[in-house]
Amino acid sequence: MSFERKNLAYIVRKTDNKTGELLHILRRIEGSAIIYVRNRRRTKEITELLMNENITADFYHAGLDNAVKDIRQKRWQNGEVRVMVATNAFGMGIDKPDVRIVIHLDLPDSPEAYFQEAGRAGRDGEKAYAVILYAKSDKTTLHKRIADTFPEKEYILNVYEHLQYYYQMAMGDGFQCVREFNLEEFCRKFKYFPVPVDSALKILTQAGYLEYTDEQDNSSRIFFTIRRDELYKLHEMGKEAEALIQAILRSYTGVFTDYAYISEESLAVRTGLTRQQIYAILVTLTKRRIVDYIPHKKTPYIIYTRERMELHDVHIPISVYEDRKVRYEARIKAMEEYVTTDNICRSRMLLRYFGEKNEHSCKQCDVCLSHHADNHLSETSFEELKRQILFILNKKKLTPADIANQVETEKEDIGEVIQYLLEEGVLKIEDGMIYISK
Ligand SMILES: [Zn+2]
Repeated sequence: MSFERKNLAYIVRKTDNKTGELLHILRRIEGSAIIYVRNRRRTKEITELLMNENITADFYHAGLDNAVKDIRQKRWQNGEVRVMVATNAFGMGIDKPDVRIVIHLDLPDSPEAYFQEAGRAGRDGEKAYAVILYAKSDKTTLHKRIADTFPEKEYILNVYEHLQYYYQMAMGDGFQCVREFNLEEFCRKFKYFPVPVDSALKILTQAGYLEYTDEQDNSSRIFFTIRRDELYKLHEMGKEAEALIQAILRSYTGVFTDYAYISEESLAVRTGLTRQQIYAILVTLTKRRIVDYIPHKKTPYIIYTRERMELHDVHIPISVYEDRKVRYEARIKAMEEYVTTDNICRSRMLLRYFGEKNEHSCKQCDVCLSHHADNHLSETSFEELKRQILFILNKKKLTPADIANQVETEKEDIGEVIQYLLEEGVLKIEDGMIYISK
């Protein structure tokens, strides 16, 4: 199976005015579009910009409620909204064949990611575009990502240590503790930047010291902090609380040993209580230290998968840090090469990256198209010559000299157009005679 996407034109546009270029492209190319940006705030800003220009748009990122995400995805999918401005969280489960253009305002981390995101355009096999808008300053931003994604090990250990201050966790404590984590607050308190802290926590997660979830749609969890034989204490809590506890014990196992995921909706159905009542009861039970209830919330969590350890016992393995960093750097470099190279067909560059040998150029990426421009013919005169040549060849086979005699223009221009049409397979040549291939 080939990675080649014959209907997809890869374009890299160098510009210092990305939003201006974006509007220009969206006005020129009709149809459904996805615009990828790196951060959540920007999805909203770009959406507003487009709306102000009367282009229907909506935004999507992992921080939105599932219900909101569903609605937005559906509205875009059925064409009520033309443009989806999104982070890379958008893409799973999209089944929209007629996306005409995917535009990246920021560079993805790897050719793999790019290929996948760009590939959401043109699934119907009709002509589609994958565009990257690239500014000179992007190169610096791209390199900064390496340091942001793999902060120094010392920095990671500092974050680990500050986390203990943040939670006032004593040495040796913490095993299986689940705590809400507020990244902004943590960074304010200990004077960090959020992005590298986020990366440090992910590396500590990989190394097995904790579990950090920045996913926003965690289900509610519950853990009984009393023993099963202490359940008699619940009598004083009232009938509703008792019914709820019974329903939980019947529906979920292991709640005395670990946090279990629960669904307030299904508990509501089983007990006849409302969701609000269930929430209130569980909060009260938590205050009385009977259970520990962590409601579904839009806050990330940190779960201690090991007890708090001395810093000299915290080791980040090579497989988690050095190996991954080397691979990450290589991908960033490949991405940089992709946007800065301007003499190799972009489709070929991507295919080559995936280890595919492809001898022909795509004839539709910006590199292939500018090859034309290099040979001095403007796009309009090229198209005009092409039209004339096809017109006279429509009647009969001709030699190149015959064609040159019938079309009034420079011989070398005609030669260039004929050459191009031959390469493209529109024309064929046999015994010196040129004809339109059927
Ligand atoms: Zn090309």
